[in-house]
Amino acid sequence: MIYFVGAGSGAPDLITVRGARLLGKAGCVVYAGSLVNPELLGLCPPDCEIHDSARMTLEEVIDVLLAAERAGRLTVRLHTGDPCVYGAIREQMERLDAAGVSYTVVPGVSSFCGAAAALPAEYTVPGVSQTVILTRMAGRTPVPKGQELSALAAHRASMALFLSAGLLEESQAELLRGGYSPDTPAAIVYKATWPDERVFRCTVSTLAETARENGIGKTALILVGDFLGEGGERSLLYDPAFTTGYREGIAP
Ligand code: SAH
Repeated sequence: MIYFVGAGSGAPDLITVRGARLLGKAGCVVYAGSLVNPELLGLCPPDCEIHDSARMTLEEVIDVLLAAERAGRLTVRLHTGDPCVYGAIREQMERLDAAGVSYTVVPGVSSFCGAAAALPAEYTVPGVSQTVILTRMAGRTPVPKGQELSALAAHRASMALFLSAGLLEESQAELLRGGYSPDTPAAIVYKATWPDERVFRCTVSTLAETARENGIGKTALILVGDFLGEGGERSLLYDPAFTTGYREGIAP
């Protein structure tokens, strides 16, 4: 059996109990060395075969997974954050399907959750935003038509930009062109939940400058939206006058 496991956003104790148990029994681990905390490899048994996928192609990763499967090893494909966001797991799952090999996905704490914890902030503040957009700036990897940053910016929802810390001039221009006002609050969260985590608060119009001044070019999430500012309403769920399936509201 092959397990796609989310390693969490950085701090080694943010992996799930299930993920940690699997690492403890693994015979083969292929981990995303660019972003997975190497301390997690300390959970693996001493004879576990370990590969860093940062230096491998998809074909090489699949070859390793299939060979380990044939050898009857418990195999962990360890991805940063949660594998379902920019994890490139679909292409791996398709090849395993074609080879008739079964697999299971174990979720993890995505960096957009780690970054919110670092601030700390809530993306879905009533009256401010009830929508979170997870996206990226088009770079060497293009984005499909209609999903350009400027098109998404028109919603003025809460936004987390992955893979874009090196493209902040372009990102900033697109965000402004699309509809965020220049003074919309923004934040750059570098290495959320790692020991060297850093948080820079700014506005949409100062994103590029803030990254430049602080030498941030990668391993950062860019957060944008009024959820980072003041204001908003209290939730109805916990309002004394609001009736829910669990609680009878009392007339004010
Ligand atoms: N599956 C991962 C995302 C992988 S894409 C997840 O769920 O988080 C890699 C991008 O994620 C990076 O370019 C960066 O934008 C972001 N990222 C990953 N870990 C991060 C961290 N600890 N802090 C800030 N951003 C991070």
